[in-house]
Amino acid sequence: MISDRTLPSYSIMKSNHGWESRHVLLNAHDRLNGITEAHLKQWLNATQVQARFGKLPTYIPHLAQVQPDLLAITIQTDSSSVEFGDAAKPLVLMSLIKPFLLLFLLARVGRESIFSKVGMEPSDQPFHSIAQLSSDRGRPRNPMINSGAIFLASLLPGNTSASRCESLRYWLNKSAGCDLTLDKQMLASVESLGNETNRSIANLLKRAGYIDDIDLVIETYNQICCLSGTVVDLARLGLLLALPHLTISSQDQHIVNSLMMTCGLYESSSQYAMRIGLPIKSGVSGGLIAIVPKAGAIAIYSPAIDEIGNSVGGLFWLEQLVHAHRLSLFQTD
Ligand code: GLN
Repeated sequence: MISDRTLPSYSIMKSNHGWESRHVLLNAHDRLNGITEAHLKQWLNATQVQARFGKLPTYIPHLAQVQPDLLAITIQTDSSSVEFGDAAKPLVLMSLIKPFLLLFLLARVGRESIFSKVGMEPSDQPFHSIAQLSSDRGRPRNPMINSGAIFLASLLPGNTSASRCESLRYWLNKSAGCDLTLDKQMLASVESLGNETNRSIANLLKRAGYIDDIDLVIETYNQICCLSGTVVDLARLGLLLALPHLTISSQDQHIVNSLMMTCGLYESSSQYAMRIGLPIKSGVSGGLIAIVPKAGAIAIYSPAIDEIGNSVGGLFWLEQLVHAHRLSLFQTD
């Protein structure tokens, strides 16, 4: 009985157990390294068609003026880099900063100070939901939605919003070898509308005792959302979560990856955990970062988004790529 239940090792799988006999399992690292520019190009036309179903966000005037048919993709691994499309066009990170804000603070203030205040549960409400925060009595549901990230922005070291944003920007550029810069025009545009929703979120956070200085926290949050880079910069950030790193612990990488998987695409997170099966984060600027653990990172830019705030073309392109090259974490063959 006991021997019947013993799992066969991968190299000596026996077909009489019902498992397929397969001796060589190609790993995600090899699969990702094997992807060429020609592979990426394959879905260009279909992605362009899909992207037309999306819309530019209108609540940030400067984002509404972006060229909607821009398209860029890159894959970065430890040993290869492949790019295609408008890969030199910078984009603002918006919510793409959230996983990296969390990663920085995990290293800086530790898990306990963060998760004693912020939850780790997904939300079925929009990323800026005030109703969600109210029903949670002012406790942010997770770090991938605005309430969680606004709270986390209050933990950044520094006395001013500029020095807080700079401490994050500096650490990310140094750790990831990327070149994020603050997009001042975008910041002015974000600030031009008064930020009603995020201010209401900050108000609730203050009333519940999570933050003190609303202006400082909102200014900091807006600045870190307006850090800007190319898809190559985004993918390099992604590598911080994909590969062993000298100054980042694998436990912290695990925390951020799992929260991206469960919460990174807001209300669509579970759907894409099933359809794609990778930790992914989106931003309303139309950027996407997908992490292929132990292999590399994929970054895509296609500005038109769906009603949830995720890039339509980006998710389409990523899904085709992941299926064709069997990159899902849940792939067994
Ligand atoms: N700065 C944006 C906001 O707070 C980020 C949202 C997003 O990218 N989903 O609305």
